[in-house]
Amino acid sequence: MASNVSEARQVAFIDLEAQQARIRPQIDAAIKRVLDHGQYIMGPEIAEFEGALAALTGAKHVISCASGTDALLIGMMALGLKPGDAVLCPGFTYTATPEAIALLGATPIFIDVDEDDFNLDPDNIAAGIAVAKEKGLNPVGLIAVDLFGLPADYDAIRAAAGDMWIMADAAQSLGASTATGKVGTFGTITATSFFPAKPLGCYGDGGAILTDDANLAAICESIRLHGRSTVDKYDIERIGVNGRLDTLQAAILLQKLAIFEEEIELRQAVARRYNDALADVAQVPVIWDDAVSVWAQYTLKVPAHRRDAVMTALKAKGVPTAVYYPRPLHHQGAYRHYPFTGNGLPVSEGLSSEVMSLPMHPYLAEDEQHYIIACVREALETA
Ligand SMILES: *Cc1c(COP(=O)(O)O)cnc(C)c1O
Repeated sequence: MASNVSEARQVAFIDLEAQQARIRPQIDAAIKRVLDHGQYIMGPEIAEFEGALAALTGAKHVISCASGTDALLIGMMALGLKPGDAVLCPGFTYTATPEAIALLGATPIFIDVDEDDFNLDPDNIAAGIAVAKEKGLNPVGLIAVDLFGLPADYDAIRAAAGDMWIMADAAQSLGASTATGKVGTFGTITATSFFPAKPLGCYGDGGAILTDDANLAAICESIRLHGRSTVDKYDIERIGVNGRLDTLQAAILLQKLAIFEEEIELRQAVARRYNDALADVAQVPVIWDDAVSVWAQYTLKVPAHRRDAVMTALKAKGVPTAVYYPRPLHHQGAYRHYPFTGNGLPVSEGLSSEVMSLPMHPYLAEDEQHYIIACVREALETA
């Protein structure tokens, strides 16, 4: 079959090298400063980075930690999660979201997501609470995930959640905002990740806990450091974890933070070009009025029976794609025995076989993007 797309190229799914090339001297100098002062654990860059993140997000307290998963764990330890408690969470998310709930002996209850923005559907919260009560569990909180970089509908979630706490899993959405505020201020506690491929990534694992609640912040700070008192370091007040962020990672993150807001702008241009060029051949991501996504992923919905063929055709053209997530969590072996609402989660199940993410990063050149767009259009029309 004749191809509209002539010369084949190889495109990066996420291009961390382009970013590194841009700020390499600053990164090298920041690493050198840490090697020179030698304070590898809780060095001065930690407090500096936490302060910078508070300034960026407007959160009153920022506690850096070892990963996004640890941020969820430490946050829910601080909230006192325990066996007999239930926490609602979406069925369509990364496996780390429900992990800490189960690790703390509580019960995740999976509820369905919205078919347009893929985030937790506030209309399903009441059903999740009812399931918890039927099982004799105490519904204490919920985790809302800002999937692919777009904040969940926190106003509606808060209204439906009553007196339950809200943990915002913002691993993919740091830097995003809505008409009512910035990510980091929506949940009782917000957890984020600096895994290298996230919008703000370090060169290893890292994460942070953000909250406006001074009491919860002090407890998180203590838990991060083996539960020790924040006033007397020889006094162990509670069971904690070793959950610190490395000084080296904080030093690297400070350099990346300096260009982060500009990168968020660059991501908007990339997403806009995709949306304009693909809306007539696939279901493109929705963006609510006045919301700014950070586009951790740019994800299309394509017909389930054609997705594999489309992905194979794109791979042959040097255009990588990925499926986040190929299976909803209530179908995963480790989580199958936990409760979910209704007879299943039809939207989560459908999305698992329809979603396809395209290359997305701030340094995607316009000509490169035109190539991707041409390949996607061709694959959708012929594959
Ligand atoms: C990446 C991610 C996490 C976990 O972050 P890590 O830093 O890899 O531990 C949690 N939730 C979601 C939605 C994620 O995408």
